[in-house]
Amino acid sequence: MEKYVPDLYQKDVFSINYDNLISRGLKFLIFDLDNTLALISEKKANSKIIELFQELKYKKFKLMIASNSLNKRVKAFADELNVNYICNCKKPKSKKLEEQILYSKFKLAEIAIIGDSMLDDVVCGNKIGITTILTDPLGKKEFPFAFIKRQKEKRIQKKLRDNNLFTKGRYYE
Ligand SMILES: [Mg+2]
Repeated sequence: MEKYVPDLYQKDVFSINYDNLISRGLKFLIFDLDNTLALISEKKANSKIIELFQELKYKKFKLMIASNSLNKRVKAFADELNVNYICNCKKPKSKKLEEQILYSKFKLAEIAIIGDSMLDDVVCGNKIGITTILTDPLGKKEFPFAFIKRQKEKRIQKKLRDNNLFTKGRYYE
């Protein structure tokens, strides 16, 4: 069950204490897109996300988007935020992300993945051995395949809660 447990858990990307990430030695943040940075109804980055990314760049973080969505959608956000991206990433599979990590020359201890999906983002990050940061999903609406995963996630979260490994809504860092 440990593969589902994130290292940190916050309500959303705005609630994360990024200075704390710096003191943990993190330098490279890999963000999920759908329901982490944007609602699925949004087709471009909103002003709050643009501002957040500016602030994170100012703090000297390297930033990237890794999304299971297709190129057209992911590219629109990445271009606007001026960051590299991986589309069609197939998380929780880790191959595409690991290629990028090797190419980036950052150490695993310096990298975190931030996303709203325990089954995709957290499992993928734990598989690679990087820091995993779970957020709650931004919105209730999901793409159809994600909705099915979310049902499975709810069952896993119940098991995690019963075993005192993770409780939804109890944030920690
Ligand atoms: Mg997501």
